[in-house]
Amino acid sequence: MDPNKVIAVKDSGNPIPKDQLHPFISGYVDGSIDDATMTRLLRSIFDHGMERDEIYTLVDVMIHSGRQMDFSHLDGFVADKHSIGGVGDKISLILTPLLASAGLYIPMIAGRSLGHTGGTLDKLETIPGFSTAISMDEFQMMVGKIGCGMMSQSDEICPADGKIYALRDVTGTIASVPLICGSIMSKKIAEGIQGLVLDIKIGNGSFMPTLEKGKVLGAMLKDVGEHFGVTTDLVFSNMDQPLGRFSGMWCEVREAMDCLNEKGPVDTMAVTLKLASKLMVQSGLSKDENSSNHTLNELIQNGQAMEKFHQFIEAQSGNLDGANNEPKFKTDVCAASDGIIQSMDTTTIGWGLTDMGCGRRHKDDILDPSAGLECIKKIGDTVQEGDVIFRCFCSDEDKLEKGVAQISNAVSIGSDLVKVDLFYN
Ligand code: URA
Repeated sequence: MDPNKVIAVKDSGNPIPKDQLHPFISGYVDGSIDDATMTRLLRSIFDHGMERDEIYTLVDVMIHSGRQMDFSHLDGFVADKHSIGGVGDKISLILTPLLASAGLYIPMIAGRSLGHTGGTLDKLETIPGFSTAISMDEFQMMVGKIGCGMMSQSDEICPADGKIYALRDVTGTIASVPLICGSIMSKKIAEGIQGLVLDIKIGNGSFMPTLEKGKVLGAMLKDVGEHFGVTTDLVFSNMDQPLGRFSGMWCEVREAMDCLNEKGPVDTMAVTLKLASKLMVQSGLSKDENSSNHTLNELIQNGQAMEKFHQFIEAQSGNLDGANNEPKFKTDVCAASDGIIQSMDTTTIGWGLTDMGCGRRHKDDILDPSAGLECIKKIGDTVQEGDVIFRCFCSDEDKLEKGVAQISNAVSIGSDLVKVDLFYN
């Protein structure tokens, strides 16, 4: 296989044959193909897309770059949820223990920050001692025992996604249907799950800014899931503003715990329950969304979901009592005029958070566990000049200034009454 010829095929808009794509991806994983060459292929896929069969091959090659988990010995439904990425999206931290407390098994391979969006693993690692680098065998045992766990992809599982994900993050090749399909579905299928629900975020803070684009991605993700024998449901949810009250690092873990303690923001709980209900119905534990909501709310009210959260954190060596992520510096972003908040530029907010220490512009950037923001006003809220819209915080004054400079330009105020729908059909 000549990598230049493979790239030339894609550059001319044609599908890459299976027997060429396979060695290309394997070559990148084993180091015989370098970052620059892989970047050329990623750009070409980004520009020209891939055909359905090519995407199946990409997913297949990525799955087989490592081992696959096997939960066939468990007496229960094994499932997972994945989001295409957003700002303030802490749903996995709530939904995973919640569903495990209902009796499902959730072996989640979660991600790190990607572009302007936050990463579940980065947030979890703000808990002292919490380990996401777990061997596959250990992880499978833990999921069998307590019902859930979250690990990163590793040399053992989906190494191709690990390398390609990190490269896409710094080469402007994230928002591509085939590459998102390859990344998400290889990880999920390698988990050995029976069911999956995907949160397709739509809006100016998502990689899919319009419903039309999100539908194309969703249809392909579902198609791939079913092709590989995984029942796949889709939820289209709004990402035109940060989700919940807090966005960032430790503050999102704390908000997830608030949700499990019945003190969560309405939008975050609604998205969590909508996604969770799809898996409750798939598993046969609930007959519809209403009965699922009833069961899941009960598990929150009686403390079982929170207990499962603690079990999961402890099983991965996290010490919540030791968490001391108080930010050293805070700055308020205030309304520049009277009026109604018309819109928020959520990608700009995400980049502001990235620069405050919640994500990476470069592969080796160090994150700040104390960084984040509190979204005090949301779209549709009435404000007066000087009202606080965002409270931004982190532990590095320069980074805070850089983040705030961006976030200050992310809100538009006008006079129209506006309302944001949380879901799209
Ligand atoms: N989440 C992933 O795991 N991969 C993507 O490409 C986007 C979101």
